[in-house]
Amino acid sequence: MTTNPPTLLIDRFGRIVNYLRVSITDRCDFRCIYCMSETMEFLPRSQILSLEEIETVCRAFVELGVDKIRITGGEPMVRKGAMDLLRKIGRLEGLRELVLTTNGSQLETIAQDLKSAGVKRINISLDTLEEALFKQMTRVGDLNTVLRGIDAAIATGFERIKLNAVILKNRNHQEVCKLVHFAIAKGIDISFIEEMPLGVIQSHDRGEEYYSSDRIRADLENQFSLLPDTTNTGGPSRYFRVSGSNTKVGFISPHSHNFCGDCNRVRLTAEGRLLLCLGNEHSVDLMQVLRANNGDFAALKKAIVESMQIKPEKHEFDLTEQPIIFRHMSATGG
Ligand code: SAM
Ligand code: SF4
Repeated sequence: MTTNPPTLLIDRFGRIVNYLRVSITDRCDFRCIYCMSETMEFLPRSQILSLEEIETVCRAFVELGVDKIRITGGEPMVRKGAMDLLRKIGRLEGLRELVLTTNGSQLETIAQDLKSAGVKRINISLDTLEEALFKQMTRVGDLNTVLRGIDAAIATGFERIKLNAVILKNRNHQEVCKLVHFAIAKGIDISFIEEMPLGVIQSHDRGEEYYSSDRIRADLENQFSLLPDTTNTGGPSRYFRVSGSNTKVGFISPHSHNFCGDCNRVRLTAEGRLLLCLGNEHSVDLMQVLRANNGDFAALKKAIVESMQIKPEKHEFDLTEQPIIFRHMSATGG
């Protein structure tokens, strides 16, 4: 029998970090209006971690007590070799959960392989069920391909499938009930996300299109009875169960309900920066640590343990200001 190693990652505020989110690429086959500008410049290959380096960092975190890893991006599945990497991470001893966030564009063909690789749960982004609006919000995505991907994931039988919907006023806010009906019909969960001011975008004014979780919840309560769910994922979502169904509805509300007190996570960007907070720039350059020390594993683990000293207490998001965070969500690992 194997026992988990003692958790070594504790920050100055006593928060235990046991969850790593890894952006394995800043690239994507979509251009969602809240996530990217229309013309994005992506990082050259030399400036991003190799797949081997990503695996090494994941292994170090797991040895330091992290038991959940989320692979994200950009769109993680556009990176060549992503499936192999998932397989390797899925085999790490001590890892309880390997999970994935995807836009669903390839799920139709890869869902089964993802499960075999050890992916337990999947989050799939879906902001609207209107074909034209889907095209408008993703700029290039095809709704029907994603819907077929969702069905393929359901047929594959992951432990949990959750939709993620970023809600913008006067774009898709009228669809929140429809999205919940869809989730109930499919027997899956859904989270509504308040837009975060990450990176400069031109498509809209983030402040003007802000639609709070409380407003979404009020809209939903016209049609559904939402019962508070006590499940604590240690994350930013507050969950409710939709009465008469198995579907849970989550709200990720960085503006209206600050979630930092319970933060249990850090993020690795595609270029190897360990970000200690989604809404601050405090980071450690793990690519530099890896490359300067010839891949010395002990030096890497030491740098990770020391990084806990600079994890900020809370994010500083403010929709009324120009972004103080210039990195886009795609480069952050949402
Ligand atoms: N490409 C994958 C996807 O879309 O699911 C994974 C990466 S994406 C950056 C992860 C999540 O971040 C998605 O659910 C997306 O909707 C969300 N997201 C992107 N930009 C955001 C923003 N500015 N504010 C809030 N959520 C955002
Ligand atoms: Fe791509 Fe995901 Fe960003 Fe949309 S939210 S542009 S799918 S990384």
